[in-house]
Amino acid sequence: MSSASASAGTGFGRDAPPPPTDLLIDGTWRPAASGGTIAVRAPATGELLAEIAAGEAADIDAAVRAARAQFDGGDWSRVSGAERAKLLWRFADLVEEHLDELARLEALDVGRPYAEAFFAEIPLVVDTLRHFAGWADKITGSTFSLPPFAGAERFSYTLREPLGVVGAITPWNAPTMIAAWKIAPALAAGNTLVVKPAADASLSTLKLGELALEAGIPGGVLNVVTGTGTSAGAALAEHPLVDKVTFTGSTAVGTRIASAAGANLAKVTLELGGKSPQIVWPDADLDAVVPVAALSLFANQGQTCASGSRIYVHRDVLDAFLTRLAARADEIRVGDPLAEGTDMGSLINEQQLERVLGYIAQAQDEGATLITGGSRVGDRGCFVQPTVFLGDNTLTIAREEVFGPVGTVIPFDDDDEALEYANGTEYGLTAVLWTNDASRITRFTRALRVGVVWVNAWGPPHPALPWLGVKGSGIGEELGLAGLHANTRLKTVNLLSAPAGRAA
Ligand code: NAD
Repeated sequence: MSSASASAGTGFGRDAPPPPTDLLIDGTWRPAASGGTIAVRAPATGELLAEIAAGEAADIDAAVRAARAQFDGGDWSRVSGAERAKLLWRFADLVEEHLDELARLEALDVGRPYAEAFFAEIPLVVDTLRHFAGWADKITGSTFSLPPFAGAERFSYTLREPLGVVGAITPWNAPTMIAAWKIAPALAAGNTLVVKPAADASLSTLKLGELALEAGIPGGVLNVVTGTGTSAGAALAEHPLVDKVTFTGSTAVGTRIASAAGANLAKVTLELGGKSPQIVWPDADLDAVVPVAALSLFANQGQTCASGSRIYVHRDVLDAFLTRLAARADEIRVGDPLAEGTDMGSLINEQQLERVLGYIAQAQDEGATLITGGSRVGDRGCFVQPTVFLGDNTLTIAREEVFGPVGTVIPFDDDDEALEYANGTEYGLTAVLWTNDASRITRFTRALRVGVVWVNAWGPPHPALPWLGVKGSGIGEELGLAGLHANTRLKTVNLLSAPAGRAA
């Protein structure tokens, strides 16, 4: 592990104004009704970046009512799909024009390296908006060929309609991308939204709200209410005028959201935590595998839901794999997220820093062998070394989501054992297979209880592909056609040629 050099300095962007900090409700910016604010600090330096509005139940209510009125008024829900597509494309273009600014916001606010945000996360926001813009005028139902009903010719079909108001609650780890996953399909389908970003990572979502308005998306279609989870988040999840709650975050909070939304019989999509396995077989080319396996483990400081943090390695290649992974971890440059050359930035906050260091200490107490890393970097900011343990499936770090740069390598002897280990978790988000053996790939892709499988690769989700978790990792789909449909409901229509029973 080495430290990145040369600070690129702070500030919101070259010639960029500071992002909005008020609530976006009904197309206007306003402070929280209570007047309260939340201090936003850069996790890498502790520097005060902004004071954002601390929205509460009254603000959520105002935003939901604005979204409801906008939906019922039809300026968005009933305009042509082509018109919605045009505005979503304009929104995407504006995000692309503000790529540098948004990437800097993400680096400052969340602590992830600027390069990751600039080359991966924000381009995905653009791609997601464009992908769903493409669907906006292609939302169709089905027709059915059915026999006559009570003597009358019958034409039955389904309409696919928007749901109404979507309440979106997002996490801090990839806030701009995950906001786009929720905003783009909901808007393409004709819904209106209230987005509640994580208090630790709201700035880029506020910026998205500003760009949506600038793109010409009518006021009240996309509302952004910042605030804490227990106040603004809970109020949104339980609001009776919300037709769907879409949540990405921890499994513990997700279950609470499901109960709150369930009380109103609102539709729910939950994208929750993960403890994803990578499985490495002896036929894999370890020199090619290790950099990507390490990326899966350490990207975004290990704070990704799909982090491949349990690495099962066939015992025949265990030593070769460990040597390479440790060498790769030691090359990773940890430091200022805005500095050129930084591979890994800061964890989100001090609480997360303490949590991750606690997991590392616990792993050592439980008898895991520390291969590399294991310590905080410096005494300012929330930096942790890329850390690799050798251990077994019983370790707490092999069972619980650490959400930090900490991986466990676990040897296996045969395929049955690897499968049992990989499925032996309460989570079921993603899995990575490193092999070219077709029969293994076929067996494991079917038998793994996860939503997404990568074979010989790991990377960010593509907007065209459904993204989902099973078991403790979630309910419902995002992205792709399935993600679009998750923002619609069907209506069945039976059209008869004459009043039933009186037809000739
Ligand atoms: P979190 O659950 O603490 O918070 C997520 C959001 O919920 C935040 O906006 C928060 O303010 C809000 N919230 C908190 N308590 C609430 C409550 N009682 N009612 C309503 N809202 C509430 O999660 P986090 O720490 O921000 O994010 C990390 C988690 O997100 C990890 O578990 C990670 O795996 C998960 N995640 C999952 C995916 C996925 O696609 N499956 C993607 C990214 C992150």
